[in-house]
Amino acid sequence: MTISAEKILPEPSLTEVADGVFAYLQPDGGWCVSNAGLVVSDGVAALVDTAATEARTRLLREHVTADGRPAPAVLVNTHSHGDHTFGNHLFPEATIFAHAHARNEMDRAGLHLTELWPGVVWGDVRVALPQVTYRDPVTVHVGGLAVELVPVGPAHTTNDTVVWVPERGVLFTGDIVMSGVTPFCPLGSIAGSLRAVDELRRFGATTLVTGHGPVGGPEILDVAERYLRWVRDLAREGVAAGSTPLEVARAADLGPFAELKEPERLVPNLHRAFAEERSTALGEELDIVAMAREMGVIFQEMVTYKGEPLSCCA
Ligand SMILES: [Zn+2]
Repeated sequence: MTISAEKILPEPSLTEVADGVFAYLQPDGGWCVSNAGLVVSDGVAALVDTAATEARTRLLREHVTADGRPAPAVLVNTHSHGDHTFGNHLFPEATIFAHAHARNEMDRAGLHLTELWPGVVWGDVRVALPQVTYRDPVTVHVGGLAVELVPVGPAHTTNDTVVWVPERGVLFTGDIVMSGVTPFCPLGSIAGSLRAVDELRRFGATTLVTGHGPVGGPEILDVAERYLRWVRDLAREGVAAGSTPLEVARAADLGPFAELKEPERLVPNLHRAFAEERSTALGEELDIVAMAREMGVIFQEMVTYKGEPLSCCA
């Protein structure tokens, strides 16, 4: 197989994790450096997510269609974020599936992510909206394989989907959990993420392909659960003490979570956890628009916490 698109380092790879089920991994899994997935059966292919930039998506397309594989007829977006969706338009043969809220959010957010990271060479990125949306689980038959699209959350966002291939024991989790990378829930929910981790356990998957970081097993869920509980407890104490999320983050000992990439995400996660701690109504609608408005301030707080600018290698 020859891959001719411009060199991206570290080099992404496509690995078959089970018969006909592939993980497309983009190291090192940091900000906007996301994974994708591929299911191929009886000459039909389904892609899970695209990539942030034009160059990364063109390389993804070359890998996906190498070795005589067909262009994907189905493309599932696990959620609305641009690092998983900005390359949608480079798979024009595919019908795009996503949670109904994901479509709304993609439409509302547009290419806003490109403004958060002006140093990235985005290339030709576009908002190509899903053609099929759902609010309840949907099964797509890809050749001989059933592929279940299951809405979960609010967790990482208000529009998360996990993609389950029951005959292969493989679960594509999107960003609800990430492997070796700090969770990121300011536009989703901490409590909802904890519930989502429980739901993910019930699939009984042997292989987890997460939205960022290496392929793993159910231990990824354990790490996520411990982290989320820790954030929730910190927020409970912080609210009781009258502290701010940034104060709590700076005083907190990361302990084992220091090994997770992007530890500065503790700040936005605490913002979300503080809001949930103060809210009396469980399951109250999240004020996503207000949170999005606050994100500029929260990004600045992450820089303060980290003591240097955030870096995005997309
Ligand atoms: Zn995301």
